[in-house]
Amino acid sequence: MKTKSLLLNLAVCFLLLNVCISPPAFGGRIDLIVGHGVDKEAEAQARATVDGVFNFFQKTYGIGLQKDIRINLSCDKHSYKKAIMSEYGRSEASAARTANRSVGLQLGGTLLVDLGDSSRRNFKLFTLCHEIVHFYQAQESQDKHGSIDWICEGVAEVLAAHIMETVGKQSPGYWKEYWREGLKDARDWPRLENLHSSMGAPFAYDTSALAVLTLVEWRGYPALFAYFRNLKNSSPEDAFYRAFGTRLSDFEKQFKPF
Ligand SMILES: [Zn+2]
Repeated sequence: MKTKSLLLNLAVCFLLLNVCISPPAFGGRIDLIVGHGVDKEAEAQARATVDGVFNFFQKTYGIGLQKDIRINLSCDKHSYKKAIMSEYGRSEASAARTANRSVGLQLGGTLLVDLGDSSRRNFKLFTLCHEIVHFYQAQESQDKHGSIDWICEGVAEVLAAHIMETVGKQSPGYWKEYWREGLKDARDWPRLENLHSSMGAPFAYDTSALAVLTLVEWRGYPALFAYFRNLKNSSPEDAFYRAFGTRLSDFEKQFKPF
């Protein structure tokens, strides 16, 4: 009975959704689920962005995704809320709260993005990139990527920015300026050493992104994933030193976003 109703539900879902199952890509399979109401242009932009992320990782680090991932695109807040309920099994009230304060989410192997509101499309595609970067971090570090929040989130921000600028969605330097502008209005920025296990401070993401950008300017993009790979068998401090050639605590003390 249970199986029957599950099959029925799946059949209904397949009627509502345009499900695209891509061929195995570098070991992992990408299921891109385009929700009812997502327009063709938004879908094409999302596909180009996802391809941009995969190409970047293949070219820069020689890696693909090993695990299957599922990307579910919604056309507006309402559909995004429904996707949170169906994909993550959340109640309507809880899904509504999350939908109101986010445009993208990632849990397990499933990523949800609300692509609605075309005036904010680039920001949403940026979020799509950011979330996919976390999959690679988890894979390359064997799930030890979250040990220092500012590096984990800063790398996702910086690579998303680089990919968006590479695929031509934004001009080079756009995001650096965006983060700097955000911080200019702040009286102060959070210290990196206070961003190890929480990103709740105001301007935590802007500061982390600018810190990681400084590391890229010193050591280039390859060093970023050398760090995540090092985490497999070293402490975050050792992994950092081996990847960037400086002590984590020294970098955190000396870093200034301007
Ligand atoms: Zn993130």
